[in-house]
Amino acid sequence: DTAMYAAKRAGRNQLCLFDQGLERAVQESMMLDGALRQALARKEFSLVYQPILQAETGALIKAEALIRWHSESLGWVSPDRFIPVAEESGLIVPLGRWVLQEACRQLAQWRQAYLSARGLRMSVNVAAWQLADADYVADVQAILAANGLLPEALVLELTERTLIAEDPTIEQNLSALRRLGVRVALDDFGTGYSSLSYLSRIPLDTLKMDRSFIAELETSQRCRDLVLHIIAMGRSLGLQLVAEGVETAAQAETLTGFGCHLFQGYYFSRPLPPAELAERYFQEMSPV
Ligand code: C2E
Ligand code: MG
Ligand code: MG
Ligand code: MG
Repeated sequence: DTAMYAAKRAGRNQLCLFDQGLERAVQESMMLDGALRQALARKEFSLVYQPILQAETGALIKAEALIRWHSESLGWVSPDRFIPVAEESGLIVPLGRWVLQEACRQLAQWRQAYLSARGLRMSVNVAAWQLADADYVADVQAILAANGLLPEALVLELTERTLIAEDPTIEQNLSALRRLGVRVALDDFGTGYSSLSYLSRIPLDTLKMDRSFIAELETSQRCRDLVLHIIAMGRSLGLQLVAEGVETAAQAETLTGFGCHLFQGYYFSRPLPPAELAERYFQEMSPV
């Protein structure tokens, strides 16, 4: 009897601990949500840009726009914490529109100011909620036009998570965007509910191999084999391959040997504020 009582009590305690953990998670998410709602109006967001470089030449081909949030009440908050909260509340739609506008404005400014930025493309992360909006294609077109950019200048990065719902609006929007000339990249490839059916169903241009594979290149033969075959498969489908999270010269060398086209990672550059990126990569100003 006493044993049973102890077990029950332990069970109740566990339940209690679990509830407290859950409560904390809910509280944190509510707190972030509250702060996020005011953050756009308060202009607390900014973008940094990470170079995506060509393997052989080191040329800057694309820049990925990555959001940063400095909250008045919370300080710096990582996108890995607040993007999921913004996705849950739907706030990702106006936030994502701001990111697209700001990234396109920046790209147009660089292209105008520097000769060597004329061929640069901008890669922007898009959430499922944005792509599921019936007006999304028109929004993208309007933003490109307002900045004097051709659709080819823009790459939209989506994850396998966005595709798993098989939402017909999302798939129609992607096809329409692709027809316009906007590029589509599958981000974090290999970490989601990877289904090879996406590769035939969705009109993709680019596969971005998740950095978890790249991190294990030197230590795991299985990982090397997997990366080699992902690259070979992607190339045979006519896709561009980007290796994410390249942190060492050895990783870059291995990937080049495997036929990977493009690199992104701390070994080449961290995400940079726009002025720093321009200083490092663009030299000659355009003649006025
Ligand atoms: P992501 O799109 O896969 O972006 C790449 C992330 O890897 C970035 O983290 C980048 O700083 C980091 N990274 C790049 N190179 C290296 C490396 O060599 N080593 C390591 N350890 N990390 C590297 P960040 O900026 O913290 O963004 C995290 C995620 O938040 C992004 O992953 C993306 O899913 C999401 N995110 C960021 N900005 C936006 C946005 O504007 N909209 C949406 N919907 N999501 C965004
Ligand atoms: Mg991305
Ligand atoms: Mg990624
Ligand atoms: Mg990611």
